[in-house]
This record gives sequence, structure tokens and C-alpha cells, in this order.
Amino acid sequence: MKLLKCKYRIKCEMGACGNVAKYSIFPSRTGSQSTLHVCENCLEELTDLFMKEKVAKKEKAEKKDKVTKKDKGAKDEKE
Ligand SMILES: [Zn+2]
Repeated sequence: MKLLKCKYRIKCEMGACGNVAKYSIFPSRTGSQSTLHVCENCLEELTDLFMKEKVAKKEKAEKKDKVTKKDKGAKDEKE
């Protein structure tokens, strides 16, 4: 998947956003038809949402990890 600066003056495709798209997301192995054009705001929001989701998942995994590591004897204490 690629993220490139949008070359065209088209509208952001995120819902009813309506801003001018600044970035184009190119999914791998697909034609240009499935390219997603988004504005900076929406991309930022999307990234933000994803990061939150990722952090939540990570925290969950770490909690799980701690339990299993205790049994083995934790050796990495980077954080
Ligand atoms: Zn937008």
C-alpha cells in the first residue's frame, strides 16, 4: 500500500467531508479505481483513531504478556 500526495484537485472521499484531497492511498495490487483520496484532516483523524486502537490493543497484549512473563521470569524491562 502506498501513500502519495494527491495529484488531482478532487474532493476528499471520507464521508461528507468535502475538503480538497491532499493524499492518495493506493492499495496494493489494485487498479487506480480503488484509490482513496483523502484530505489532511481526515488522514490525521484516521491515523489518530488507528493509533488509539493500536495502543488499546497493545495495552491488552502487554497485560497478557506480563502474566506469562512472570511465569517464565521476566528478562526484558525496557519500559
Ligand atoms: Zn476529508
